[in-house]
Amino acid sequence: MPVDGSTRARVQRMWERLGRACEAAGRDRDEVRLLPVSKLHDVDEIRAVHAALAEVSGDAGPRSYGENHVQEIVAKTARIGPDEGIDFTLIGHLQTNKVNAVLPRIREFQALDSLRLAARLDRRLTELGRTLDVLVEVNTSGERTKHGVGLDEAFGFCEALADYEALDVKGLMTVAVDSPDTARVAACFDALVALRDRLRGRAVLGSTWCELSMGMSGDFPLAIAHGATTVRIGTALFGPRAY
Ligand SMILES: *Cc1c(COP(=O)(O)O)cnc(C)c1O
Repeated sequence: MPVDGSTRARVQRMWERLGRACEAAGRDRDEVRLLPVSKLHDVDEIRAVHAALAEVSGDAGPRSYGENHVQEIVAKTARIGPDEGIDFTLIGHLQTNKVNAVLPRIREFQALDSLRLAARLDRRLTELGRTLDVLVEVNTSGERTKHGVGLDEAFGFCEALADYEALDVKGLMTVAVDSPDTARVAACFDALVALRDRLRGRAVLGSTWCELSMGMSGDFPLAIAHGATTVRIGTALFGPRAY
């Protein structure tokens, strides 16, 4: 896949910013996973970013791309070959009636926020004889417009997930408040860290609880400073989305 100059420059710049953010936070680069978010970008744009990331990172291995909508994942997986090294992670809300359609097409699900959905996923996965990596989405900002389990209920919610053996619960995800006030954004990240520590401290689900997926194009350096282990980056890698 040939990579045009502007894609390469954008990807290179993002890769460098990621390195600087890790350095500034005194963290090892390997501790922070980059999940490129490809929603609303077509498969050729994904291929171009994929090729550019392989160049700048020196890692031509497979990568997962974040998507918000089941229909978009279905359409894109139909056009991407199994040997292209590209697969998808669902980072948006999932309705129970779309579970069967999406399960064969995703590597990971980062937005688990209801026990009804957990039960539905677990049942279908058991039928398929497989497991799925999941993160619990937590609404750390308290905004009504956001999905996610409320901070008050999150601990109990996570405890209840122990009943679903096909769900491999890897950690927590949040979308911070979109605000120029960095203290408010940081408070969202800290709330997720505190919840993770509480879950770990009580050994609720054993030692597999470690992932913190937080930080996007506008706030990833702050998220890394606060302990993010995965950052979800759309605009800074792909350019603006056409709605
Ligand atoms: C779209 C989206 C992102 C990426 O957002 P950018 O600001 O474009 O980096 C990250 N996480 C979630 C849940 C998203 O929906």
